[in-house]
Amino acid sequence: MPGDRVGRFAPAAATWYRRAGGGLTLICAGLGAAPDLDLAFTSHRTATHSLSAVLAVAVVAAVIAAAAGRPVARVTLMCAAAYGSHLLLDWLGADFYPPRGLQLLWPFNHEWYISGLDLFRQTARLRIFTRGPMRTNVHAIAQELAILGPIVAGLWLVRVKALARLRPRCPAATIRRSRDRGGISGRRSRRAAR
Ligand SMILES: [Zn+2]
Repeated sequence: MPGDRVGRFAPAAATWYRRAGGGLTLICAGLGAAPDLDLAFTSHRTATHSLSAVLAVAVVAAVIAAAAGRPVARVTLMCAAAYGSHLLLDWLGADFYPPRGLQLLWPFNHEWYISGLDLFRQTARLRIFTRGPMRTNVHAIAQELAILGPIVAGLWLVRVKALARLRPRCPAATIRRSRDRGGISGRRSRRAAR
C-alpha cells in the first residue's frame, strides 16, 4: 500500500504488544469473532454473516480511522478483511444444522450459501463442558490449528522479510522522526544527543 512506510513497523525496542499491532490487532481479532454474536439472538448466520455487514464494518472503520488520523485505506481493509474472514471460514466449514450455510447476500437475497467442502469440523454449542461436546470441540480446534497455523506462520515470515527490506529504504530523517515519537530507542538517542 502506498503511504507512510515508517508507520508499518514499530521500533525494535517497542513493547511486544505494540510490535504485534497493538489495539488494532485486538480489534481485528474481536471483529473476526463478532458475526457469531447473533447466537445470542434468534436468527443465526443471516444479517451478521452477510457481505452487507462487511460493508458496514468497512464504513464504520473508515469513519473512525479518519477521525483518529490513522491511515484510512489500511485500517478499513484490515477491519473488513478480519470480519470477512469469519464468513469465509464458515462457508468452508461443515454445518449440520439446517438451513445449512450463511445468507451471504442478505437482505437482497435470502438464499443460504455453503461450499460443501467441510474443511472445518462441526463444533458443539450445547452443554460444551460435558465429555462428548468437549471432545468434539477439541478435535475441531486441533484441526483448525493444523490448517491455519502453517498459513499464519508463512504470512508472518513474509511480513518479517518484507519489513526487513523496507527498513533500509526509509529515509533516515523519517526513521529518526518515528523514533522520536516514542520508544526506548527514542529516549536513548535523545539522551545521547544531550
Ligand atoms: Zn459464524
